[in-house]
Amino acid sequence: MDLKHTQPASAAAQALGWIDEATRAVSPPLHNSTTFIRDEDNQYRTGRAYIRADNPSYDQAEALLNHFEHGAGAMLFSSGMAAATAVFMALKPGDHVVAPQVMYWGLRNWLKTFATEWGLKIDFVDAGDSAAIARAVQPGKTKLVWIETPANQTWVVTDIAAAAQVAHAAGARLAVDSTVGTPVLTQPIALGADIVMHAATKYLNGHSDVLAGALVTATDDDFWKRLKAIRHDMGAVCGSFEAWLLLRGMRTLYVRVPAACRNAEKIAAHFAKHPRVEAVLYPGLAGDPFHAVAAQQMSGGFGGMLSIRVKGGETAAVAVAAKVKLWKRATSLGGVESLIEHRASVEGASSPAPADMLRLSAGIEDAGDLIADLEQALGG
Ligand SMILES: *Cc1c(COP(=O)(O)O)cnc(C)c1O
Repeated sequence: MDLKHTQPASAAAQALGWIDEATRAVSPPLHNSTTFIRDEDNQYRTGRAYIRADNPSYDQAEALLNHFEHGAGAMLFSSGMAAATAVFMALKPGDHVVAPQVMYWGLRNWLKTFATEWGLKIDFVDAGDSAAIARAVQPGKTKLVWIETPANQTWVVTDIAAAAQVAHAAGARLAVDSTVGTPVLTQPIALGADIVMHAATKYLNGHSDVLAGALVTATDDDFWKRLKAIRHDMGAVCGSFEAWLLLRGMRTLYVRVPAACRNAEKIAAHFAKHPRVEAVLYPGLAGDPFHAVAAQQMSGGFGGMLSIRVKGGETAAVAVAAKVKLWKRATSLGGVESLIEHRASVEGASSPAPADMLRLSAGIEDAGDLIADLEQALGG
């Protein structure tokens, strides 16, 4: 059965209902062949010649992600960074770019070093304020507006529809890092985005055992063809086994993400007025500065990511992270297990992360257990 017209949870669980015609297998085979037979008359009628361009193990995962995002095409990459950097490398030296001040640490570093040395002119703005994006774009010169929402690690939410309008009026594309938003909660293409990027390493796979990235396009245009050429020619391709695992992970996306959201909401509500907590940063809280725009453009939850500022500064925050037993002290996010991290120590002196802040990735454990563990770590 074609599951394209069912609810996304049905399409996810059955990976669009695909079965292997040769074996009737319900789960797709893993293809490891690097090369494919050429027809006797010198054609490649299967459309596949060499694995760097034509990996059959990508087909279902790309089709399913494209379905989730309502795109015109999806591409897997070797990592989230490979997917993101491909978008910037598809621009030309001298092109102007608007990017957020609050964004994934690794990508901001790359933009400030390599991308800048390579000739992109990048302005970093407060992307929680659509007017700031509007002031930064230069009609005719700005080729890309890049946003991340909710954004690592203070969970700034950007109004995607407003950003799309501003970008398009200036003749630029809008790309959205929707890693934390996930297709379950946020639909950037429906709101006007041209490109959606995912660190598939995080929620899409969801089990902390795959490194992968993805791009989805709203239109199959020349820019998308250029991105395809970049993946093919620069070789930033996903491994076959990673693609296979990613498809398996995505089958439970519509169960895992709502569960993580419910846990994050309960944790945020519980600690919002805690005597040892300075502030809880989470767009799901009614008092959060981004609650209204998040409620408008996210549906079904506000994400599984939140941050907690601990009273007593850096020493107190690091001590809390040291005392947790159920939460895992580790970087990354979006897995079924809950992770806690003191970002300021990871990022060093130039970090915009407040020194008293812990970043939490809520997993799918029991909310009461997660709250009790943080309570004991806070010494409550
Ligand atoms: C992890 C992450 C990335 C980078 O993804 P990798 O797969 O680690 O390269 C980019 N953006 C966000 C929001 C992330 O969390």
